[in-house]
Amino acid sequence: MLKKLAYKKTRQFIDPSVMNSVPCNVYVQKDGCSLAFESGYGVDLTLCEPLREGTAVRLSFDKVEGFELCLASDYQAYVAEQTRVRDQKRKAEEEQRKVKEAERQQKNLVFNQALNLPFSWGVDIKVRMSGLSQHSWGDGRSRSTVHHVRVLEEIRDGRFKRDAGDFLCGKDDSKHQGYTEVLTIEEASVSCQACLRAAKRFTQ
Ligand SMILES: [Zn+2]
Repeated sequence: MLKKLAYKKTRQFIDPSVMNSVPCNVYVQKDGCSLAFESGYGVDLTLCEPLREGTAVRLSFDKVEGFELCLASDYQAYVAEQTRVRDQKRKAEEEQRKVKEAERQQKNLVFNQALNLPFSWGVDIKVRMSGLSQHSWGDGRSRSTVHHVRVLEEIRDGRFKRDAGDFLCGKDDSKHQGYTEVLTIEEASVSCQACLRAAKRFTQ
């Protein structure tokens, strides 16, 4: 907390030019108690405890407290400390976010690798126009989006056939996307139940 300096008003009337200038620094005059702007223009406040001539004092105005005075050096230290604390907090939050993201990716990777699919694939979604409206992330995804296995090469396994671009659960009949920008297997876990069922023939 900032240590406030006690003062007395030398006039009841509040000088509008002082009001218009706050917050600002004023300076202790020769007598140790009078205060003036750098220009020499006097302020109608006087310190109860004298300070060394020339000491910078921060003058501010609070609706409840009225004028407030503190050492400008204290104020600077206070602001620096606030900034330091805020930066530290932001940095800690960023670190935490990175850790969480790494954990999420690791989880997806473990899950997807366990499917043991013997062909090139990625994770992808079926884009629906409804996904492009409210409650979506604006890119066709929404919180309830199902992640499919996007097959990236032809599969022929007995009667099981998929072409490149198909989902493992079947043809992608949505019209709104190509399949050039599939997600990596770190980015999302496959959540389509039909894809997971179809994956079982490879997993075993
Ligand atoms: Zn699917």
